[in-house]
Amino acid sequence: MKVFKFGGASVKDAESVRNIASVLKSAGYNGTFMVVSAMGKTTNALEEVVKLYFEKTDFTQKIDEIRQMHLEIADELFTDSASLKSEIHQFFEDLCGFLRRNKSPNYDFVYDQVVCCGELISTKIVSSFLNSVGIENTWLDVRDFIKTDETYREGKVIWEETEKNFSSLDNSKFYVTQGFLGSDPNYFTTTLGREGSDYSAAIIAYCMNAESMTIWKDVPGVLNADPRYFEDAKLLHKISYEEAIELAYYGASVIHPKTMRPLRQKGIPFYVKSFIDPKGSGTEIQNKLTLEPFVPCYIVKKNQNLLRLTTSDFSFITEEKISRIFNLLHNLKIKVNMMQNSAISLSLCLEDKFNQMEVLLDKLKSEYQIEWEKEVSLYTLRHFDEKSSYSFYKGTELLRQIIKNTLQIIVKEE
Ligand code: ADP
Ligand code: ASP
Ligand code: MG
Repeated sequence: MKVFKFGGASVKDAESVRNIASVLKSAGYNGTFMVVSAMGKTTNALEEVVKLYFEKTDFTQKIDEIRQMHLEIADELFTDSASLKSEIHQFFEDLCGFLRRNKSPNYDFVYDQVVCCGELISTKIVSSFLNSVGIENTWLDVRDFIKTDETYREGKVIWEETEKNFSSLDNSKFYVTQGFLGSDPNYFTTTLGREGSDYSAAIIAYCMNAESMTIWKDVPGVLNADPRYFEDAKLLHKISYEEAIELAYYGASVIHPKTMRPLRQKGIPFYVKSFIDPKGSGTEIQNKLTLEPFVPCYIVKKNQNLLRLTTSDFSFITEEKISRIFNLLHNLKIKVNMMQNSAISLSLCLEDKFNQMEVLLDKLKSEYQIEWEKEVSLYTLRHFDEKSSYSFYKGTELLRQIIKNTLQIIVKEE
């Protein structure tokens, strides 16, 4: 069995859904597990619904916009879309019903129960369309298979149970299911973290002992630079799991950083290919491959915070102090992407997905003088050499660090 993953960009409209059928015909789909994300920017729109709901503002208009977008896609794909459209209506009725009845004040819990609709609806549409053009498939609710703990918005997989659930499935069939979702021990929906569908595909590949996994993207494969910010990005033909995990970790958003671990554990070959050019070679990711071509890789992570903490009483930044700071960061789910310390100060490059910076600073302000630079970018250059260009960013350099052949620069952009 092989695993395919199609992300938001590959299902953003009716034409894209039709294109999936041609990719499947070209690549073959017997014995395939296909993981599909929400359509286009649906997850962002559903996040907006949750925000409005907690602000006690009208969210029904936003829900109607999302509903309308899906109904239009269904209309474009089918001559008779009545039954699919009634299913779509039902999803949104259920969603509104949940929000009307909900008593939970837990933002993250409500978030997961709402945001999951994006994947559930998109897979319904894609699965029905494929069946209608003769690509027979079975739709599965992935929440019956991927089990997680109760960490809403960042569910931790319960591997043993998840593996057992998948063992009942038939290797030779063609399944269509959702990325990004799981369920907790009480069968409430959990999500695996934004952009987590790549990771879902890897979980399934691991559990099904897949022969390979392919994620289909709007780029030719993994490039040596993010094409949105760098010109002349080159295709990396071959990379190791280690290279891929480092690139993803530093911010190459083409692959979710959690994707590599399950694949590497079972040595499952991993391909990143283009859904626009499915016959293109793409990128192959495996054990023991060396970076080919061996070129410097440029990565940028936007929306970072640079925090400089200096002890107020001129005391050293001790292990004990660092340990307390990191404990706070862990509890507030703030991610450290780079750190540097001196005798009395500690500089941290932080990613604050859950808007907890103010809480953090409040807890630190009695002990430290704090400098906080918001909205900075973290640039990373891997495999640099004397020929590499260092003028790959525009703006003011705030901090620089070199570890082996990796250079990182925190930049305040103009
Ligand atoms: P999905 O449709 O699966 O959600 P994403 O949009 O998350 O796909 O990932 C594909 C995008 O990742 C590309 O359009 C590209 O802009 C961006 N990207 C960032 N870094 C890289 C890189 N090193 N190589 C290729 N694409 C990259
Ligand atoms: N739909 C989810 C998101 O946009 C998961 C994914 O696409 O990977 O974050
Ligand atoms: Mg995505």
